[in-house]
Amino acid sequence: MLKTAVFPGSFDPITNGHLDIIQKAAQLFDKVIVAVGHNADKASMFSVEQRLEWIKQSCAHLPQVEVKSYTGLTIAFCQEQGAAFLIRGLRSGLDFEYEQSIAFANKEMNAQIETVFLLSSPSYSNISSTIVRDVIKHKGNYKAFVPAAVQF
Ligand code: ADP
Repeated sequence: MLKTAVFPGSFDPITNGHLDIIQKAAQLFDKVIVAVGHNADKASMFSVEQRLEWIKQSCAHLPQVEVKSYTGLTIAFCQEQGAAFLIRGLRSGLDFEYEQSIAFANKEMNAQIETVFLLSSPSYSNISSTIVRDVIKHKGNYKAFVPAAVQF
């Protein structure tokens, strides 16, 4: 049976940290669905279409990666896609505290889906989309933090 994993997030925008996790996941699973979650009342800097396009271009070298968007519960999206694994990246103990409670809630809702944590490479563990958005807002040089496809 094909092992399918969903890697959900806002990806607003995709960073080198995200890409690092996607590359690690692509080595472990037959299919990795990078899923841009969005809902109407959460403001984002970039449109869903723009975020999807940048992820697709950044992952063009990874044939096992698909890119999709979804609304609603992540765990419901995983089930809909036939994915038995949900991937989250960890940068620090703080990330772990937060992610653990989400993983427990997801397990309560669907015991068939396993959350898999992948550790950030040290060189990417300080990058977040929040910092990148801040750099962009203040017209700083964001290029070192994001894949080459992210240009505007
Ligand atoms: P969300 O809003 O769902 O947290 P993000 O786009 O911020 O979405 O992050 C998606 C996933 O990528 C999360 O699991 C997050 O911990 C992980 N992630 C974000 N930045 C990094 C990084 N620099 N290294 C490793 N994982 C990361």
